[in-house]
Amino acid sequence: MPDPADLIRALDGIADPLSGRGLAAAGRVSPPRVSGTAASVVLDVTGLAAGAGATLEAAIVAALRALPGIETVRVAQTQEKRGRRILAVASGKGGVGKSTLSANLAVALARAGHKVGLVDADIYGPSQPRLLGMEDTRPTAKDKVLDPVATPFGFAMLSLGQLVAPGKALAWRGPMISGALGQLLDADWGESELLVVDLPPGTGDIQINMIQKYRPAGAVIVSTPQDLALIDAMRAMDLFTQVGVPILGLVENMSGYACPHCGEISDPFGAGGAEAAAAEAGLPFLGRIPLDIEIRRASDAGQPPAAGDGAQAEAFRMVAERIATALNL
Ligand code: ADP
Repeated sequence: MPDPADLIRALDGIADPLSGRGLAAAGRVSPPRVSGTAASVVLDVTGLAAGAGATLEAAIVAALRALPGIETVRVAQTQEKRGRRILAVASGKGGVGKSTLSANLAVALARAGHKVGLVDADIYGPSQPRLLGMEDTRPTAKDKVLDPVATPFGFAMLSLGQLVAPGKALAWRGPMISGALGQLLDADWGESELLVVDLPPGTGDIQINMIQKYRPAGAVIVSTPQDLALIDAMRAMDLFTQVGVPILGLVENMSGYACPHCGEISDPFGAGGAEAAAAEAGLPFLGRIPLDIEIRRASDAGQPPAAGDGAQAEAFRMVAERIATALNL
């Protein structure tokens, strides 16, 4: 009887087109089952381009049949999950610009014509209402289902900050938080095809519960170039890998300093840390956003820079485009 570890190793020798990781590590295939000389595998084709499922299936059959003791291989492709998908924006720690990136990704994706919604699930600092200039808005509810609030940027949003007074959510117990997050995610999102979810930083129970229950189609990890943030980012990556959510890639924020006078970018803390970490982990690098006073100023004023037409908007647009491609939007 073949060793299951050998089968997993063989499956990991095939790259998942979305995350670049091995098929088993990416959660693209279920752990293979062996009965006699027959192996069977479930292949999840969610998010893959048309035809990619058949190519992967052929590669899986060839890889497993090459193992001693395996004669037949059955691959069951799961149905493409229709309807709304979730993009988790995560970071290993706070203050790295996860909320800023989430807001601007939603803006850039909407500008590119995609139907998106934004969920602010950051219990420690729900900042989306401020970032989008929507601090005075409150969602209404119909039959206990929340109605997301339209932003001026072509998408609707919901934030824990719109449901509770600032600082209050922190005092909640786990089940209450999970209940509130569920209300945000199960709201009436209408035609939105993708919900960008600004997750709380870190890798605790709240994150794990949410990921397991709502199974994001992909995750984006935000980090600054500094080593410490990267170690935390690695932990966040492990979390998604363990539950089989494909990591679409890493974004390096506050990468280099954009001179407010001439626009030239210098690197006082070094640059490329996240890119190197992505390469090491075998993950795509989705781009860098410079440390730019204009980004902070516009964000504080409730005007997401991705809605403008400067270099800042272009940086966010490029990251959004790579994500849209990875998700086959
Ligand atoms: P997080 O969600 O990871 O805690 P935030 O998005 O709230 O981080 O960002 C923390 C602070 O850093 C905010 O004041 C924000 O305006 C600022 N900031 C984030 N990214 C940049 C950037 N690229 N350039 C300048 N300031 C930034």
